[in-house]
This record gives sequence, C-alpha cells and structure tokens, in this order.
Amino acid sequence: MRLTRAFLPTLKETPAEAQIVSHRLMLRAGLIRQTSAGIYAWLPAGLRVLRKVEQIVREEQDRAGAQEVLMPTIQPADLWQKSGRYDDYGKEMLRIKDRHEREMLFGPTNEEMITDIFRSYATSYRDLPRNLYHIQWKFRDEVRPRFGVMRGREFLMKDAYSFDLTKEGSEHSYRQMFLAYLRTFQRMGLKAVPMRADTGPIGGKLSHEFIILADTGESTVFYDSKFEGLDWGGTEVGNDDVPALKAFFEEVTAMYAATEEMHDEAAWSGVDAASRREGKGIEVGHIFHFGTKYSEPMGLSVAGPDGVAVAPQMGSYGIGVSRLVAALIEANHDENGIKWPDAVAPWKLSILNLKVGDAACDALCEKLHAAMPDDAIYDDRPDRAGVKFADADLMGFPWQAIIGPRGAAAGKVELKRRMTGEREEMSFEEALAKLTA
Ligand code: ATP
Ligand code: MG
Repeated sequence: MRLTRAFLPTLKETPAEAQIVSHRLMLRAGLIRQTSAGIYAWLPAGLRVLRKVEQIVREEQDRAGAQEVLMPTIQPADLWQKSGRYDDYGKEMLRIKDRHEREMLFGPTNEEMITDIFRSYATSYRDLPRNLYHIQWKFRDEVRPRFGVMRGREFLMKDAYSFDLTKEGSEHSYRQMFLAYLRTFQRMGLKAVPMRADTGPIGGKLSHEFIILADTGESTVFYDSKFEGLDWGGTEVGNDDVPALKAFFEEVTAMYAATEEMHDEAAWSGVDAASRREGKGIEVGHIFHFGTKYSEPMGLSVAGPDGVAVAPQMGSYGIGVSRLVAALIEANHDENGIKWPDAVAPWKLSILNLKVGDAACDALCEKLHAAMPDDAIYDDRPDRAGVKFADADLMGFPWQAIIGPRGAAAGKVELKRRMTGEREEMSFEEALAKLTA
C-alpha cells in the first residue's frame, strides 16, 4: 500500500479529550474515529489490527473445540423476560421498538439467545457436550463510556457458551476455555493473569477474570509475583485430557491472584511477603460457570442416559476483542508511538523512501514493495525524512526499511526494529530474507 494512496489519517496534535495513552495513540495514529459517545468507526489500520486480534481469538477457540456461529445484534425482549433478566439489566440495555411495537433490544450479551437456539435442537445426552461461540458487536449503554474503545458503548466481543450433561463435564469445559484464554493472550504477546472474580449479574460460583497488568487499568488486583515469569505457550495439555487439564488448572489457580472484590486478606497473608504484588489491571476476558441458571428458566432439557430429563450445565466465556486493541497499545508503546507486536501489527513493514525522485531509491523501494505487497506500507510521499520517521514510529510497524540515496546506490537497506530500536544495514536480499522469515 502506497502512503500517497492510503487512508491513514495521522494527527500531529494530541487530542485533548483522550486521557490515557492508548486512546491518544489510537486517535493520533488514525486507527479509530469517534462517531458518538462511546461509539467508534474503525479506520483501515485499526480495522486490520482488530481483524488480526479477532483471528487469533477464533483460532484458539476452534483449537479448544468450540464451534463458531453468528447470532444477530438485535434480540427480541421476550427471551430476556423468560430468563428474568429483562428488568434486572437496567439502563445499560438499549431497548428499541420495531414498527409493530414489538419490544426488541441491541444485545449486550447472548446467554438467552444461545440457550433458546440450542434448546430447539438438543434432545438427548448425545447432543452434549457442545461449545458454541460468536464474535459480534455488543451494545451496553455504559454510564461513563471512556478511554476510547477500552470502555465503549458499542464493542466487539467473543462470547462462547458451553453445554454439558454433568457438573464434572462442565468444569472440564470451563478449564478448556481457561487454557484457551491463556494461549490466546500469550500469542498476542500479552501477560494476562487469571484472577478469581465475582460472578455479578451473570450468576454462578466459578469465575475468573483475565487481567493485563497496566497502571491505566480500572481494576485493582492482588497477585503472586510467580505469574510474572510464566509461559503458557508450551503448555502441552491435551484439550480432552480431563485429569491433565484439571491438574494444570489447579496448579495455576493455587497461586494467589484476585480482584479487589474477591480479595481475601487471610489467604493473602499466606503468600510470601516478597512475592506479593498489588497493582492496576485491564480486564480483557471473563469466564463463568453458572450451572442451570439459564437452562432451567429457558426450558432447555435433554433426556439423560436413563431417560430422565436433565437441564444442561452451562458456562459463558467472554473476550473483549476491541478492548484488546487498546490494551495491546497500553502494553506496547513509547513516547514516540505504538510498538505493535508482530502478531497483530496492521502492516509488518514500512518502507521509508528518504529521497523520492532519486532513481536508485525509487527502484529499490519499488522492488521491496513488490516483494511484500500485502504486508508493507510504502512511504512514497515527497516529504522530509523526519516526517517519515515520526509517522512510522507513531504507527508502530514492527519493521522499518530505511532507504536513502547512498545505501540505495550500493543496493543496501537499513532495517529498524521498532520494538527494540535496533538498526542494521544489509543487502536487499538479506533484508528481504529477514522480513519474510
Ligand atoms: P467490565 O467490568 O469491564 O464492565 P464486564 O464484567 O461487564 O466488564 P463481561 O460481561 O464479562 O464484562 O464481558 C466480557 C468482556 O468484554 C470483558 O472482559 C471486557 O474485556 C469486554 N467488555 C465489557 N464491557 C466493555 C465495554 N464497555 N467496552 C469494551 N469492552 C468491554
Ligand atoms: Mg461491564
């Protein structure tokens, strides 16, 4: 993509309304544009990041055995009247009427709808277990939408729902999602700590929030420093290996980590004083096990092996996909801008032509651009080098290929790694090999 053709509207000024760094950088780097309070349009670079985050989430859900569906954003009110949540949900729910005066709503979550869909097909224990998820826009009329997409009113969420015959089975489903979440965040280069959490209006007893440690987070958290050094990437636990997954879950959850609401002073005092950490964090995921809280009122039941009707045990599992984009920036930036991890960068490379019009520069830049057509932004603007450096740093591409007249004449490219600031001059071929490795 040529910068002279791209819609990548960066801002020089720091927007006054933005209080936290991710919000400022998302506006300055041209990732999003607010269209009304807490509601944003995603511009090309922002959308590319959002799609990559979404895809990592999807792959890890699939790997954990969940199956993707897509439910609508608009829901009929009667589903919520059946579960008893229609009145309880309060002002956060955006209620609408259609032309026939039927009560509808913009979905803030989908427990009712998925239970209703599943109920129409599941008749026997052989239809269990199942785990269904979708990645869809939600609307919650938050009292204080703020910090950009971190706490929006319209936001993209992945929500999964598990159905099991027994409590033991549903605990296994819960642990499958627990592991999938650790893997998901790790693939994005984020350290998310699973914390014991309150179940709130969703109900149930077992619940964990996945929290990224960051000073700008809204949650106060207490955790054992052991979490700081852990690596989940190589966790070789088989998805269907019930005892191994249980052992893994118990090992991780034995380490202390809790949100303020669930903080337990007695247990905390049992943690080695030197290992106690207290700080702020951003909630990027929340999982719940709630048994028959929805299956019973919604009339979902299946015939068990003995023919007796059973209400399935359920759980629900959310990830804030659009919030993650902001959280990734909170975790990866410096005073010059964003430092995208490779896995989620909008483009992998920015090609900086330091002298547009110089035949050698133009030719080498064109050649590199042609070699990476989908993954490079070519800064072919006739601007000063300083402007190009500043914009590339602001937008945070993981690699910059800096091509000036002297190097170009010798067929050389200078590669800069945004994450570390390292720079190295090398031949075109070496650079390309590095970039496409
Ligand atoms: P919070 O405590 O932050 O309001 P929640 O407990 O209401 O979150 P859930 O209902 O569990 O959140 O939603 C699942 C995930 O969706 C959350 O972990 C969070 O990452 C994301 N999320 C929730 N509300 C918002 C919002 N207003 N804007 C962006 N993401 C959100
Ligand atoms: Mg909320």
